[in-house]
Amino acid sequence: MSTREQANKAGFETRAIHAGYEPDPTTGAVIPPIFATSTYKQDGVGGLRGGYEYSRSANPTRTALEGNLAALEEGERAFAFASGLAAEDTLIRTVCAPGDHVVIPDDAYGGTFRLFDKVALRWGVEHSSAPVSDVDAVRAAIRPGTTRFVWLETPTNPLLNIGDIEALAAAAHDAGALLVVDNTFASPYLQQPLTLGADVVVHSTTKYCGGHSDVVGGALVVRDLELAEKVAFHQNSMGAVAGPFDAWLVLRGLKTLGVRMDRHCDNAERVVDFLSAHPSVGQVIYPGLETHPGHQTAARQMRRFGGIVSFRVNGGEAQALQVCERADVFTLGESLGGVESLIEHPARMTHASVAGTDLEVPADLIRLSVGIETADDLLADLERALGG
Ligand SMILES: *Cc1c(COP(=O)(O)O)cnc(C)c1O
Repeated sequence: MSTREQANKAGFETRAIHAGYEPDPTTGAVIPPIFATSTYKQDGVGGLRGGYEYSRSANPTRTALEGNLAALEEGERAFAFASGLAAEDTLIRTVCAPGDHVVIPDDAYGGTFRLFDKVALRWGVEHSSAPVSDVDAVRAAIRPGTTRFVWLETPTNPLLNIGDIEALAAAAHDAGALLVVDNTFASPYLQQPLTLGADVVVHSTTKYCGGHSDVVGGALVVRDLELAEKVAFHQNSMGAVAGPFDAWLVLRGLKTLGVRMDRHCDNAERVVDFLSAHPSVGQVIYPGLETHPGHQTAARQMRRFGGIVSFRVNGGEAQALQVCERADVFTLGESLGGVESLIEHPARMTHASVAGTDLEVPADLIRLSVGIETADDLLADLERALGG
């Protein structure tokens, strides 16, 4: 049995802490060193020690991270990139050629939409969008013979819509396409798409995987060895790899992913209860709410419901902007998934690039990335910001 198979048999937290790295044989270092080296001494021409020749192709710190991520997502192999979008771009060019087509969520992450709409399209890769919660609409958007993949986010950003991973994998596979799941919002602790039939998992490791808002990174995790070899070729050929310092930070973050996610979820549940009872709040959007249309599906495929909460205020855009600016413990900023709570106005900030398109988000919407601070302090801050 390989180390990976052994690691996959262990529980999630054990894998998070141990998979991908054995203590260094020469020093016993328990944590992988940051291998700040571009090249490696060869023992005679082509005599590589451990397969390393040049750090774009492979670097031991990155290898440790990639092994860890593969174990956490239960994939065949993982690949670490300089950002989530670098991972996405590499995947698009691995799988698609001019004339091909993809189906994307109608409320995709703004940067993902921009990559498809402003970059991939210029290179001849077309896209259609469909709501992730509607399997029939996704099936209808697929163009048999030219659709290479169905791109799924679940929960979506910022509206937290839920797609049924098993049903969408079947829809994609019936048409000879792959199912790609951006698992950034759930993280591998809450949801493992490859075990539900997905072919590729995408991460912005910038978010929950890194978890401390101190690194930008991305990853692809692949279920099938043949596709993994193509991704490996493109990772090296395109070169958008994670550097060793960044790989080390993400690996350190992953060790505490389970305990962090549980606290993110605990605090998000407190915030949801608080907002649901607040007179200035119109609608609270959280897949853990039984009234959420995707609740049943989320309960089936997720361990818990995550740390992101969106809500609409009764006072329109002006009040939404005011709440964002008045909050204090919730820091006004883009991104998500760090230990600190963040608040943002998607229409003006993260989703400004989809204004005026079908993907536009409501102007009275606020998105919270609920951190792991003391919950009472978060509720007091929201009370103040809402003008209570
Ligand atoms: C942030 C994010 C991305 C892009 O990742 P970067 O690391 O910023 O390039 C992709 N998908 C989702 C869901 C994200 O939140």
